[in-house]
Amino acid sequence: MNLTPHFTLAELVRSSTADRLGLDNTPPDDVVSALRTTAEMLERIRLALHGVPVIVTSGYRSPDVNRAVGGVSSSDHQSGQAADFIAPRFGPPFAIASKLAPLVSLLNIEQLILEGVKGKQWVHVSTRRPSKVINRIITITDAGARVGIQALG
Ligand SMILES: [Zn+2]
Repeated sequence: MNLTPHFTLAELVRSSTADRLGLDNTPPDDVVSALRTTAEMLERIRLALHGVPVIVTSGYRSPDVNRAVGGVSSSDHQSGQAADFIAPRFGPPFAIASKLAPLVSLLNIEQLILEGVKGKQWVHVSTRRPSKVINRIITITDAGARVGIQALG
């Protein structure tokens, strides 16, 4: 099922962790509707990245899957409001996040996170605005969270 022209429900619920551990990752109806809103945001992001393929590495996570990946219980992934992605044809995640950071309001990205460690990074976007404005655009590494999109040393 296509949620939007370039994003299917299947790619937003696919989980290698769920496959590996045999966990159910079927979203309830209210989550499917949240995933459609997320896919619409991903379409705007795809356009801003000059139409290159946006590859979702993690979308919806059922409570069991979220626990298995060590996600926080308040994770926007659990409500279908977040997606992690890469877009290698545009550039590395740092280049993507740097491009998107000034555009968050224009693109209705409520939270933008450059996440991971050097050599294994991805971009996390959410349709839910964090309660603290300081957390809207951040970089998260194993060393913790920093405000803004930061290059790793
Ligand atoms: Zn994420």
